[in-house]
Amino acid sequence: MYRAFERRDPTYEGVFWLGVRTTGIFCRPTCRARTPKRENVEFFGAPADALHAGYRPCMKCRPLDHGRKPPPLVARLLVAVESEPGRRYRDAELAEMGIDPSTARRQFKRYCGMTFQAYHRARRMGLALLDIRKGKTVIDSQLDQGFESGSGFREAFTRLVGTAPSRAADVGILHAKWLETPLGPMLALADDRGLHLLDFVDRRGLERALAMLQKRLRARALPGEHRYLAQIERELREYFAGTRHVFETPVVLTGSEFQSRVWQSLQKIPAGVTCSYAQLASRIGMPKAVRAVGRANGDNRLSIIVPCHRVIGADGALTGYGGGLARKQKLLDLERTAKLGSDTDSRDSGDHARIGV
Ligand SMILES: [Zn+2]
Repeated sequence: MYRAFERRDPTYEGVFWLGVRTTGIFCRPTCRARTPKRENVEFFGAPADALHAGYRPCMKCRPLDHGRKPPPLVARLLVAVESEPGRRYRDAELAEMGIDPSTARRQFKRYCGMTFQAYHRARRMGLALLDIRKGKTVIDSQLDQGFESGSGFREAFTRLVGTAPSRAADVGILHAKWLETPLGPMLALADDRGLHLLDFVDRRGLERALAMLQKRLRARALPGEHRYLAQIERELREYFAGTRHVFETPVVLTGSEFQSRVWQSLQKIPAGVTCSYAQLASRIGMPKAVRAVGRANGDNRLSIIVPCHRVIGADGALTGYGGGLARKQKLLDLERTAKLGSDTDSRDSGDHARIGV
């Protein structure tokens, strides 16, 4: 991909996008900007992934569209998000800006290939999680003047966790780490009691989950290392390699009694096996509570470990998944293949260990 970019090869348009670490900007493969050094470049399969990784779209090659000049409304929204990424831009706020929300939605989607809300969310999360992604400590963040100067990081982070890292001394700390997985980046939060959250960074509802956890635990999520974060990172690597089915990292389930029952019941579904919402409801002794079980399933904050992806429709259809149906399918495929491997000789299973991820 780097060679393709050096040649500005147009056949790679739409195949990959590249982020330049030194500038925080992402481009299409044919961008005319100067070629950065290889070690400063990373590649993404979709613009949304680059946004979630904290990159902003290049003004030269306009990676969100097809190189067309954006309509004034879209251009205005793009600038608005850059100047205040942490701000809310719901319909009421758009109307206040003199923008018709439905026109904005239609134009933005047509021009950028994603809704304005999805764009804003990706950009906001990317900025807010930038330090966590870089694995910086709080001290590093405080020393990093770059973020003070209008990059929007402070604002986005404050929006996400409620207060700036420097003022977070009076509350507990949830150590947060960005984990790369074959199915996309995940955010993990842990403290000395165990793992509190593991979820894909592009999952809708992650912000809500973060806010709820911090409120209930009276703690702040801050970038950092922790032994349980190191442990879950190792176990996830083994899981995706097909050599692990059971996670041993201690977990903390923070929820209502009903939610906890559902989540504990989920943990008893072995890898390679699925069950329906109705079966799950029966297992917790509330066969009529199928819908509530579905909701509790969706409120799970420990993706993969509390295997909500192993619950499918009564007819075998995948039904919903917070992390997206494609991921659900891949997780189930991985577990099915890995399970078959363990029935024979798992040491000979190098091939299927990589299937599906
Ligand atoms: Zn560019």
